Amino acid sequence: MDSLVAMIARSGTGLIGALTSPRLSILIFHRVHARADSIFPNEPDAARFERLMRFVSRSFRVLALSEAVTCLANGNLPSRALVITFDDGYADNAEVALPILQRCGLTATFFVSTGFLDGGRMWNDSVIECLRACRQIEIDLESFGLGRNSIADVSERRRVIGSLLPKIKYLSLVEREEAIVRLKKLCGLTDLPNNLMMRSEQVREIHRAGMEIGAHTVRHPILTSLSATAAKYEIAEGREQLQTIIDAPVAMFAYPNGKPDHDYNHYHVDLVRKMGFRGAVSTAPGVARPGDDLFQLPRFTPWGNSLATWVARLALNQRNTLYAKAASA
Ligand SMILES: [Zn+2]
Repeated sequence: MDSLVAMIARSGTGLIGALTSPRLSILIFHRVHARADSIFPNEPDAARFERLMRFVSRSFRVLALSEAVTCLANGNLPSRALVITFDDGYADNAEVALPILQRCGLTATFFVSTGFLDGGRMWNDSVIECLRACRQIEIDLESFGLGRNSIADVSERRRVIGSLLPKIKYLSLVEREEAIVRLKKLCGLTDLPNNLMMRSEQVREIHRAGMEIGAHTVRHPILTSLSATAAKYEIAEGREQLQTIIDAPVAMFAYPNGKPDHDYNHYHVDLVRKMGFRGAVSTAPGVARPGDDLFQLPRFTPWGNSLATWVARLALNQRNTLYAKAASA
C-alpha cells in the first residue's frame, strides 16, 4: 500500500513538475489535531500532516511568504516554489505542527488573530465545541431558523454545525457573541474549552524557531461588514499587538475569511498596502505568478484524506489556474 501511495505521489510530482513555469502554490492550514478529530475526521491530524509535509519537502522549494513575495516582485521565483501558511493561531500549530515542520526542515507563515490568544476562542469553534459537548440527543434551533434537530450521533452533530456556521458567519461581532451565548444555553453548557488558541508565549516560540508571523486582525471580522475606521483599527491593532509579542516587524497580512469582493474589497487592499505591509493573501483558489497583485495572492486548501488525493488536487489546482488564466487572456 505504501509503495502504491509513493507511486501515485511520484506521478503527481511529475504532473506538477510538467506544469511549472515559475508559479507559486500557497497552502492554507488551520488546525492540525494531535489525533483525528471525532467530528471532523477529514481534518489533518499529526500523522497525516507529517506525510503531507514529507511529500512537500521532497517535491517543492518551500519559502516563507515574505521571501516568496520578494521573489515574485523581483521576477526570480524559483521553480516548484511553495509556501505553507496557517490561519488564526491555533495552539496545535505550536504543539503539533511546529515539531513536524522542524523534523521535515520546512518553514511556514502563521497568521494570528490576536484577540483570541491566551484563553480566547473563535466563534466558529464555540459552535463546534457546543455541539461536541452537548449531552442532549435533540436540540431546538428555531431561533436560528433551523427548527428541531436530532444530534444523537456524530454525523448529525456535524450536519447541524454545518447548518449553523453560515447563519452566524455574516452577523456583526456583537450579534455573533449573542448567538453563541444563546447556543450555549440551548446546549445546556456553561463552559467551553479555553485552550484551543495559542498563548502569547507560543507565538514567540514559533517565531524563535524561525517561522514567520503574519497579521490576521484582532477579532477576525468580515472586513466588508465594518466601517472604514473599524477595519483600519482591526488591521493595524492586530499587527501592532503581534509586533509587541514577537518584538519584530510583521510584514504579511491575511484577510479574514478571505473571499475577494465579498469578505474584503479594493478599499481594504489599498489600506493594507498603504499601511506598509509587503504582501497579503486571500482564500481565492489558484497559484500566483510574477506580475500578480502581491496584496491578493491566492491560496489552496489541501483537503482530502490520502496523500494521493491531496497530490492530485494540488496538481488540478495548478492546471485549472493555467486554463483559467489562458481563457481570460
Ligand atoms: Zn482566519
